[in-house]
Amino acid sequence: MTFILGLTGGIGSGKSAASTWFETQGITVVDADIVAREVVEKGQATLQQIHTAFGDWVLLENGELNRRALREHIFKDPNARQILEQITHPAIRQSIIHQLQSATSPYVILVSPLLFETNQHKLTHHTLLIDATEELQIQRASQRDGQSIEQIHKIIQAQMPRQQKQQLADDIVLNDGHLEHLYHHLKALHQRYLKC
Ligand code: ADP
Repeated sequence: MTFILGLTGGIGSGKSAASTWFETQGITVVDADIVAREVVEKGQATLQQIHTAFGDWVLLENGELNRRALREHIFKDPNARQILEQITHPAIRQSIIHQLQSATSPYVILVSPLLFETNQHKLTHHTLLIDATEELQIQRASQRDGQSIEQIHKIIQAQMPRQQKQQLADDIVLNDGHLEHLYHHLKALHQRYLKC
């Protein structure tokens, strides 16, 4: 069975930078955020279930999901969030499992910002946390997305606290230097993972 590495970290920690590096080494990366978007694409059964559960307002005129309206709705109503997650989480999980099993690289990575929060780490054999101080997270994420500091702060608050993730992760790379420094640490880990 192919070794599955779970890769996580808070917003702006450097998960995508790390994933991209692993991809350059020929490792297949399954991105939980991308899967979450794929399962609600037009024509997918999951989108039909959301439509049935919430009504016509969840669809745009072109039949695609009105993400903004849905986001605002579940933000106001925790019960609605639960209903949505009961529909989406099993579909996301199934698709992740399928994509992990289809990978042909020496090992495979599942990258997810909410790896521990959503129990996706249970789909993996080993976990790697890309860690950064909150200050760096805010600096990097605001430069990348142009989001306000308050918005990023809110996202950080909604994620599992850094210390808790440090306790749960099998490996930790502190991404507090240049990208070359990050790659240097990843290279050593990659050599180990190749032997798993
Ligand atoms: P995440 O996927 O965890 O949200 P990213 O990998 O997208 O984070 O990193 C956030 C931003 O910071 C990106 O623009 C990325 O290029 C940059 N970045 C990540 N790590 C470093 C680093 N060590 N030095 C400089 N910039 C970095």
